[in-house]
Amino acid sequence: MGASQMYRALTPDAKATIRAYGLTIAEYVRSQGYSDGEWRGDACGCFDDRCKDGFHHELDDECQCLPAILDELRKAEAQS
Ligand SMILES: [Zn+2]
Ligand SMILES: [Zn+2]
Repeated sequence: MGASQMYRALTPDAKATIRAYGLTIAEYVRSQGYSDGEWRGDACGCFDDRCKDGFHHELDDECQCLPAILDELRKAEAQS
């Protein structure tokens, strides 16, 4: 079981954004409801697996969902 296979869909950009917010990939994955640690959201980091199919943004556009999700997580953490 290779650990690198676990987060199959996340792009290097998405991982870098998550880490820039001070979270590990595992923490982020669990925070989005994937308690088994396996990412099943979209590659861009959005929990919605259709995000960059044009549902939230086009394939070539930067994902605005991920920074928004991370901001919310940070706010929730600050309150606890
Ligand atoms: Zn999205
Ligand atoms: Zn996206």
